[in-house]
Amino acid sequence: CGIVGYIGKKEAYPIVLNGLKRLEYRGYDSAGIALYDGTDIQLCKTQGKVASLEEKAESEISRKGSLGIGHTRWATHGVPNDVNSHPHYSNSGDLVIIHNGIIENYDSLKKELKKRGYIFHSDTDTEVLVNLIEDIQINEKVKLGKAVQIALNQVVGAYAIALFDKKKPDEIVVAKLGSPLAIGIGDDEFFVASDASPFIEFTNNAIYLEDEEMAIIRLGRDVKVRKIKDDKLV
Ligand code: GLU
Repeated sequence: CGIVGYIGKKEAYPIVLNGLKRLEYRGYDSAGIALYDGTDIQLCKTQGKVASLEEKAESEISRKGSLGIGHTRWATHGVPNDVNSHPHYSNSGDLVIIHNGIIENYDSLKKELKKRGYIFHSDTDTEVLVNLIEDIQINEKVKLGKAVQIALNQVVGAYAIALFDKKKPDEIVVAKLGSPLAIGIGDDEFFVASDASPFIEFTNNAIYLEDEEMAIIRLGRDVKVRKIKDDKLV
């Protein structure tokens, strides 16, 4: 299981896809990718190998855009199939997330979100997390980073996550507890991955997040690393 992300000026698709290939050694049962093409999210995912994803992506999506996230899944909640593969959308379709790890209290969070009208398409714990983040973003009228921070304070489990909001396509938010997460800092571009192998050819400048840290990665800015348990606004 692995995660990859890119935001910058280059085409994200080849970087994310090649990154996923380099992370194949970690083992996985499904793979997927989401790109922001300048207007909308292009999402493609499948049970099986990264090579199958590549074949599917070539016929199903434009593969355009300079913001993208990709995932290889090792199923823990929900069988390996196309629907349970990552990335997962929030109900509005604005947020898209990838996640390695386990949200242990997903069932109680899911029941609460269902009462509030949320609909679930997959059996994953991950889809609960992305909708929890969206619910907080809407109800507490906070920015994405803050919504992620509040959500993760309600979560029991382990994770490396990366997500973006198509309403704010200059930003990727990442967080880590238990699973590894590295951020590569290039020249007006940023990379995210489970280890540095997907971005080693582009930059030697990397930050490895500690457990219970999150980062807000915004184009044209520094990477803001924060403690998930800090009270202050991220
Ligand atoms: N728990 C998540 C799922 O089953 C993520 C698994 C993983 O680490 O790839 O979809």
